[in-house]
Amino acid sequence: MTLIAPTDRSSGKPKSIPHDLVTSLRGRLRGAAVLPGEDGYDAARTVWNAMIDRHPALVVRCQYAADVIEAIRFARQHKLLLSVRSGGHNIAGSAVCDNGLLIDLSLMNSVQVDPAGRTARVAPGATLADFDKEAQKFGLATPTGINSTTGVAGLTLGGGFGWTTRKFGLTVDNLLSADVVTAEGELVRASDKENQDLFWALRGGGGNFGVVTSFEFKLHPLGPEVLSGLLVHPLENARELLSEFRRIAMQGPDELTIWAVMRKAPPLPFLPAEWHGREVLIFAACYSGDIKEGEMALRPLRTLGNPIADVISPHRFVDWQAAFDPLLTPGARNYWKSHDFADLSDDAINVIVQAVDTLPSPECEVFIANVGGAMARIPAEATAWPTRDAHFIMNVHTRWREKAQDAGCVAWTRQLFEATARFASGSVYVNFMPDDEKDRVETAYGTNYHRLSEIKHRYDPDNLFRMNQNIQPMSDIRSHHQKARAP
Ligand SMILES: Cc1cc2nc3c(=O)[nH]c(=O)nc-3n(C[C@H](O)[C@H](O)[C@H](O)COP(=O)(O)OP(=O)(O)OC[C@H]3O[C@@H](n4cnc5c(N)ncnc54)[C@H](O)[C@@H]3O)c2cc1C
Repeated sequence: MTLIAPTDRSSGKPKSIPHDLVTSLRGRLRGAAVLPGEDGYDAARTVWNAMIDRHPALVVRCQYAADVIEAIRFARQHKLLLSVRSGGHNIAGSAVCDNGLLIDLSLMNSVQVDPAGRTARVAPGATLADFDKEAQKFGLATPTGINSTTGVAGLTLGGGFGWTTRKFGLTVDNLLSADVVTAEGELVRASDKENQDLFWALRGGGGNFGVVTSFEFKLHPLGPEVLSGLLVHPLENARELLSEFRRIAMQGPDELTIWAVMRKAPPLPFLPAEWHGREVLIFAACYSGDIKEGEMALRPLRTLGNPIADVISPHRFVDWQAAFDPLLTPGARNYWKSHDFADLSDDAINVIVQAVDTLPSPECEVFIANVGGAMARIPAEATAWPTRDAHFIMNVHTRWREKAQDAGCVAWTRQLFEATARFASGSVYVNFMPDDEKDRVETAYGTNYHRLSEIKHRYDPDNLFRMNQNIQPMSDIRSHHQKARAP
């Protein structure tokens, strides 16, 4: 009897798997193999971005690394398209495939902190909230992102940056080792002592090289409170305010991080009702250090213009890490486009502010994150993340509810992306790339792409791990170029 009809990876045609193979796989797993319609199937295939609605033929809900090994060997043996899900937050929805095998790691979410050694072992299904909450029990933290429901795994493998990156570097700059199941189904450790090439590639190269079953991070003392919060201004003053933001952000100490967000004001309790739904410029700021020093460092920003609200004060770091969660809940339709900027010119500011006047839905936002600091002091070739000289990362984050709005919202996003392209440095953070930017992957990695492609060839020559911002194995690239040169 045929229970599932996955797609053959080579022919693209439907392929049947006999029932006894699924039964036998179940016997080898400590987790579960779940078929369409069974308990856990929809939870595993549903991801943050509601634009993604894919139906894998089989889900393996892993409990241990041994389950990951079984799932990879099963996918190889039966030539199944494979995808890997941890937090399910990726905008491109690459965690889920149609008709193939989905490895679901969300049940593997333990976090173990070694307070004396200031390190943590984090399983791939842990969210940023899981990690922060455990580390903060010991007054420790490592840099991650700004939305606490994001998965540690996907964020780390793409690079990872957030409120403390200027002080402590990218998430990958704090990665000490990773346990990885390779395309051969073997568990290996990657660190600066073992499998150094793999360790280099994992730090920014995404899910191209294997399935990480455990991350080991370095931790830093932080908190429990950080000076942080929002300053809200009318959008009409944005041009002058953003040029001041540029100056303050570029000159500030590593502890100071400021992001500028432009959107329609949400109905936040501290905003006067007449401002709800009107265009505003929000500065979100965090000082990763002494609160009194933070007051001094933030004074130039807080004395600018005439803010509608200033709610900067000491907040528990774990709460600040979750401060944006209510605006970033799963289940909305989303499309993103992103640019890196070495500098933020007046012309770029002008184009962005103009576009914010025509936001296609109330939940859209354009944010400009300030990075640099410790992140910029590491050489570009030290890890796979290549964009060390970006000082500002813009993300056009378009978000809406109705399918009927898809075309308008996507078109608006692309228009702003194209209008700002001439100010951009060319690189882009792979974790902000949507599904339709496959041809941008090589540019995203810049000079690191060649080495990534060689390492891909060594660890995954058949491109089993292809549901990602895909790095082509070196041999594929060579044959592609040879074909292009052929008469
Ligand atoms: C609302 C929101 C806010 C964000 N904010 C930030 C931010 O502040 N800073 C930042 O750096 N990023 C941010 N991101 C981007 C985020 O880093 C990526 O979406 C990331 O891919 C999420 O990881 P995940 O585990 O949740 O994703 P998933 O969708 O589960 O996985 C994404 C991809 O990563 C790979 N992958 C996942 N787990 C593994 C694994 N264990 N082994 C091998 N490959 C794996 C797979 O290719 C998978 O397709 C944000 C995203 C969202 C949606």
